[in-house]
Amino acid sequence: MDIGLLAEEAIAAKERAYAPYSHFRVGAALLAKSGKIYRGCNIENAAYSPTNCAERTAFFKAVSEGEREFEAIAITGDADDYVYPCGVCRQVMAEFCDGSRFRIILVNTKEDYRIFRLNELLPGAFTGADLKKPAKLIRDPVTNANSGTGDIIWPVLTGKNNSH
Ligand SMILES: [Zn+2]
Repeated sequence: MDIGLLAEEAIAAKERAYAPYSHFRVGAALLAKSGKIYRGCNIENAAYSPTNCAERTAFFKAVSEGEREFEAIAITGDADDYVYPCGVCRQVMAEFCDGSRFRIILVNTKEDYRIFRLNELLPGAFTGADLKKPAKLIRDPVTNANSGTGDIIWPVLTGKNNSH
């Protein structure tokens, strides 16, 4: 992996940032296992919450092009220091990447960067494996009965509670 090239790609991606509100531009360059590099920039919105980070822009571009496996992402921003990915972006990385292998490269310049593994920045990530764990027995607070299946038992509504 050419870290210098990936750093340059992230720096170039930052130039495309759409950040009229924060004026804080971020660029990312995501290296897929295919060898392709996908650039991303932050894209802000007047309503704020639709704003998308540079890292997720890069991931969503790559995934929409059929990529599913990734090696590393380089990230750079308008700060005089390393810019770390936000929690939401770390979670998106955890969806597609092996936390012990995927590398996050925080870029100040082509020569000045720090490298982390994803599981250093997001230990104990919630993943699809968590959804496959057996369900807990859920005790119904009214009847004190176990569902036995993991399904929630809803209290039966009486006529009094159910009148509208
Ligand atoms: Zn983010």
